[in-house]
Amino acid sequence: MQEISREQRQLEDQKILSKFLIFKSADFTYLDNAATTQKPECVLQAMNNYYRTQNANPLRGLYKLSIAATDAYEDAREEVRKFLNAESTEEIVFTRNATESLNLVAYSYGRAFIKEGDEIVITIMEHHSNMLPWQQLAKEKGAKLTYIMPEEDGTITEEVFRSYMNPHVKLVAMTQVSNVLGCRNDVKTFARIAHENGAVFVCDGAQSVPHIKVDVQDLDVDFLAFSGHKIYGPMGIGAFYGKKELLDKMPPFLFGGEMIEYVTTEGATWNELPHKFEAGTVNAGGAVGLGEALRYVSSIGMDRIEEREAHLTKLLMEEMKKVPHVHILGSQDPEKHYGIVTFTIDGVHPHDIAAIFDEHNVDIRAGHHCAQPLMKFCGTPSTTRASIGLYNTEEDIYKFIEALKLIRGEMGYNG
Ligand code: PLP
Repeated sequence: MQEISREQRQLEDQKILSKFLIFKSADFTYLDNAATTQKPECVLQAMNNYYRTQNANPLRGLYKLSIAATDAYEDAREEVRKFLNAESTEEIVFTRNATESLNLVAYSYGRAFIKEGDEIVITIMEHHSNMLPWQQLAKEKGAKLTYIMPEEDGTITEEVFRSYMNPHVKLVAMTQVSNVLGCRNDVKTFARIAHENGAVFVCDGAQSVPHIKVDVQDLDVDFLAFSGHKIYGPMGIGAFYGKKELLDKMPPFLFGGEMIEYVTTEGATWNELPHKFEAGTVNAGGAVGLGEALRYVSSIGMDRIEEREAHLTKLLMEEMKKVPHVHILGSQDPEKHYGIVTFTIDGVHPHDIAAIFDEHNVDIRAGHHCAQPLMKFCGTPSTTRASIGLYNTEEDIYKFIEALKLIRGEMGYNG
């Protein structure tokens, strides 16, 4: 990652911020990017333009407007393919979000290929969206679900990962970046080991795809899920990558319009990939917005985004460590946080912390972050999290730190 000068950084800040008009609408500091991100003007305009000039039911009509809608939808799929460096658009399936993507894989692949006595391996740091689908599948199939326990800072070493492999393991599901600890799992190595063991590898990319370059061919994962709204696109659209040879073998997830080839009163045959997995009228406007969001982040460059966020994470953690009674979860090394810093403050409940931050117009998150088993592993029921996006600046970090310093005092503590 290439550092840039202070002046260059400030110019870049201004250029990026000028695209996000929400920051002009009110005076607030937004540090809840792991939950969802703000949308640049180009995304809003692309969706507006789609509905103003191209809207029809895509993939069905034989008239010009419907063909334009189909083209817009399929162009967005091509954007996702390029962004993830998948080999073919047949391997990109649109869904509502990462949750639906992971459920789709668990229902379709899981119900077809996981059998009684098989083992599914996940980690204790998974978001509930990459935990409950596997819990349900294991219960239904009589399979065993095993949780990898990382070191205290979230590290899973190759040695530890290997110790969970055995001939019964048929599926591994793991997040690339933890939404609580911010740590990054070595998905490329773990996918290789899982394959050597005869298991498929499902990657939850919800917190990695918006922040680092993700190349599905390089990682050689079998499936990778992400959400549009966490990468500056609209809510209600997400996607997943799946290897063609696996998608070909998998049964559909939902049944109805558009996912069929031919229907009789006795049964049906299925449409070709990826439409087999996209039953019913699709979210074309959302896909157009996501495609534009990916074009936008690509125009900045994932390397620049990663460097910007790493720079701010370092500043954030350095300043937080100077504030007494504040404890950062996971690694104390900012390079292992990918923009996500979860913390506790002695004697103050996370909901009170978030409320005081809100009084100072700083938006952060408090609670269990949809990772209750991880909270238990960390020995705390809930925590507070600040998370960085591409438009955050040093000023945002200092505003956060100013508010952080006031919290214990506002709760009646002296120091
Ligand atoms: N996986 C991780 C690691 C997440 O952080 C989240 C959301 O915060 C999800 C999955 C689920 O994303 P969504 O709610 O957009 O489906």
